[in-house]
Amino acid sequence: MTKQLEVVWDAVREDKSHPTADQIYDRVRKKLPNISLGTVYRNLQKLVAEQKLQVLMRGRSQHFDPLVERHQHFFCEICDRVYDVLIDNQKEIKPAKLPHEGFKVTSHQLAFYGTCKHCSS
Ligand SMILES: [Zn+2]
Ligand SMILES: [Zn+2]
Repeated sequence: MTKQLEVVWDAVREDKSHPTADQIYDRVRKKLPNISLGTVYRNLQKLVAEQKLQVLMRGRSQHFDPLVERHQHFFCEICDRVYDVLIDNQKEIKPAKLPHEGFKVTSHQLAFYGTCKHCSS
């Protein structure tokens, strides 16, 4: 691990708030003031390739998530915060009907959208 990769990893490893690259960059800069956003971004992609992080797309922004086990997300439509949602993994979610015979489902993504606690009061 390079020093930069280590600092980037430290900035996200315990973070459950699903930060964007910009938010991570702000934190990393406190430790490495000369680092560029591009470098932070490249190191994030490295961590994704190593399967230490997963990426969530929300519109045009990417959110990084150190929880790589299967879980789902709640996206607040007002503040863009992302929350983890645990679903019952015992229950298989099956589509009522696939487009044609012979299709095989290997995974699925489920997302919830709405207003979070901070925004609904
Ligand atoms: Zn919100
Ligand atoms: Zn998550």
